[in-house]
Amino acid sequence: MSEQTIFHNAKLADGLLADLTVTSGRFSAVAPAGKAPPAGEGAIDPIIIDLDGQLVVPAFVEGHIHLDTSFYGDVWRPHIPCTNGFDVRERVAFQAQNLAAAAPMAERAKNQLELCIGNGSLAMRSHVMVDALVGLKHVETILAVREKYRDLIDIQLVAFPQNGILSSPGTAELLDEALKLGCDLVGGLDPASFDRDVKGHLDVVFALAQKHGAGVDIHLHDGGTLGLFQVEEIAARAKALGMAGHVVVSHAYGLGDIPANVLAKAGAMLAAAGVAIMTNAPGNHAFPPVAALRQAGVTVFSGSDNIRDSWWPYGDGDMLSRANMIGYRSGFYEDHELAAAFDVVTHAGAKALGLEDYGIVVGASADFIAMPAQHVPEAVVAVPKDRTVYRRGRAVASGGTILAR
Ligand SMILES: [Zn+2]
Repeated sequence: MSEQTIFHNAKLADGLLADLTVTSGRFSAVAPAGKAPPAGEGAIDPIIIDLDGQLVVPAFVEGHIHLDTSFYGDVWRPHIPCTNGFDVRERVAFQAQNLAAAAPMAERAKNQLELCIGNGSLAMRSHVMVDALVGLKHVETILAVREKYRDLIDIQLVAFPQNGILSSPGTAELLDEALKLGCDLVGGLDPASFDRDVKGHLDVVFALAQKHGAGVDIHLHDGGTLGLFQVEEIAARAKALGMAGHVVVSHAYGLGDIPANVLAKAGAMLAAAGVAIMTNAPGNHAFPPVAALRQAGVTVFSGSDNIRDSWWPYGDGDMLSRANMIGYRSGFYEDHELAAAFDVVTHAGAKALGLEDYGIVVGASADFIAMPAQHVPEAVVAVPKDRTVYRRGRAVASGGTILAR
């Protein structure tokens, strides 16, 4: 016999008041309110929950985070400014210094995970640092944490060469090991400005991806034409290797400071190659124009990225407030624009991460959020915190707090 729950009076994104039937953790019916199908022959009495017209949306997708390097829940670590403008290499050195004095990694990762789950993210992609100094220590720790939280959240891990690949001898072999241990994707870092060898860096990344059948997700901070050049190189490789849907450029700041006609060309190239762009609408940086890229057919998704770490102190692990930030920085005012900002943290994220059973549809995993909002545009501007988070049809968090398991 299968366990069944019927959620009455769920307000869906299209305005329909619906009854949602969840059977063994998946949506088995989505029907207009009052029209839920009767339980099947031999079924036990379903659990009935009245959502009372609350807005029901699929769980958020936290598409880019660093579970190993956050100090969330640890002591406050004041931000150390770079000595001569933003410098990735210097920030990495500050990070090493901070991490040496931090609370155990598993504990910090757990703090951050519970923050994200409490806010409604039930799928996540985390980059995890791999380099000659830390070896596979971070990967091993975060793999174990992922296992402990498997029933609450689906986590993809990116083996992330935080100290470059060519400039940190031994890293290519460590990335290979990390993928063998269970990382799902291979990362990269500023092939031009960090390793100063775009071809050499990408050769390693894409060879490892091919060898392991893994995806690619590259941190690219380089701006302007240098950034654009690398975006084009990555898209060309994705296309040549038939990796549509499995390659991401994270940040891609360069797309935010090029002329519109150049951006249009880059957008068309990214869409044709099936390369997605991750942006967290960062501080005072130029960032990829969300509306223009979406219009070109590019999947644009988002993540918290750094939360209380050596890069910046901001971040709240709430993808709804991230949608708000994306909308705010993009000048989104109209309902369809606010809905687009929401799509970035939900369906577009699911597409970028390749989640197959996502959404409020029959057959999908019943991972959803109920919140007091009239509709999606209002949720994006009001960011209601009084949410209930359901994982496979069971409440797992309420008002930001994880419920007893
Ligand atoms: Zn990052």
